[in-house]
Amino acid sequence: MRPIQMVDLQPQYARIQSEVEAAFADVIRSGAFINGPAVKSFQQNLANFLDCKHVVACGNGTDALQIALMALNLQPGDEVITTPFTFVATAEVIGLLGLVPVFVDVEADSFNIDPTLVEAAITEKTRCIIPVHLFGRACNMQAIMDIARQHCLFVIEDNAQAIGATCIVDGVEQKTGTIGDIGCLSFYPSKNLGAFGDGGAINTNNDELHQRIHRICNHGSDKRYYYETVGVNSRLDSLQAVLLDIKLKHLNEYLQARIKLANAYDIALSGISGLVLPARAEHSKHVFHQYTLCNPERDALQQFLNAQEIPTMVYYPVPLHVQKPYLDARHPVGGLPISERLSKEVLSLPMHTEMDDEQFEKIVTEVIKFYKK
Ligand SMILES: *Cc1c(COP(=O)(O)O)cnc(C)c1O
Repeated sequence: MRPIQMVDLQPQYARIQSEVEAAFADVIRSGAFINGPAVKSFQQNLANFLDCKHVVACGNGTDALQIALMALNLQPGDEVITTPFTFVATAEVIGLLGLVPVFVDVEADSFNIDPTLVEAAITEKTRCIIPVHLFGRACNMQAIMDIARQHCLFVIEDNAQAIGATCIVDGVEQKTGTIGDIGCLSFYPSKNLGAFGDGGAINTNNDELHQRIHRICNHGSDKRYYYETVGVNSRLDSLQAVLLDIKLKHLNEYLQARIKLANAYDIALSGISGLVLPARAEHSKHVFHQYTLCNPERDALQQFLNAQEIPTMVYYPVPLHVQKPYLDARHPVGGLPISERLSKEVLSLPMHTEMDDEQFEKIVTEVIKFYKK
């Protein structure tokens, strides 16, 4: 049996290898490594996939979030409401720009920001909400958009883990990342659409925001050597763009493979007392960046599986509001109990597009064995 990995990218690559290597050779021979036609083609195809007007590719998902916030012209001290149960990048960019991250707790079943707690966290300084579609499952965007509209707040969706997920808002099924003002994507290699290095993208339906985002990515300039604002250098390489363009054609198959594996895990692991499986929602299509269990005996289960050479991961072992750079009396340690409990109980099983039956059987057999002992 092939060793089980959390993310196994090699067989997926084998199926597109000749096409990718030919495309790489073309870029190398053309010499158009930066802002070449490959980047424009990928941006257009990604805009079509998302059904969104504008896509600007950038250097990585963290830059995407930073640039999105910069485009909103916020003032130092302005507050941004987000979840503490996420990868640090979501909060890091808020702090980096002199803005204040205000964390509110998550829903126990979805792991996503709890909209019923958002309203109480809004102050005069609140300008923006950043919901994170964690593990590939959409947040309750109807509730979030209702609150944002009522209080005139911007919404930036951290869509790094959920490309291709959908959510029904105002009766219309929409892709995550296209519901708020701006969506942010990461093409980190293990993400659902992964590059061979770093990559990211920002998408919006708003023409003015698009212009500002485009400008900020290009050192604040619309015309070379003339500057309108302070910007950054954040670009997607042409080599990454040709790869992502090829993978994008297969993205729906890749997502289908993840959903199929999640369905199989659900069936095999249902009915074990004490083991909570990832909850599905009527209002959305989950694309399973992670398949995450919840269980008070998490550490023992992880050790047991590890001894059987089954890798697992804890996303995330410590919520952000209890970490040094983000301590704040507004969200004291102990004050966001669901996030704090989840960080002790969650465990993600191997999830990727290439799992074979033998590997799957071994994983579920060992998980079941743990509970029978
Ligand atoms: C991966 C990720 C990011 C950051 O993306 P990078 O491309 O690694 O910078 C941001 N937010 C979330 C939720 C992520 O999972």
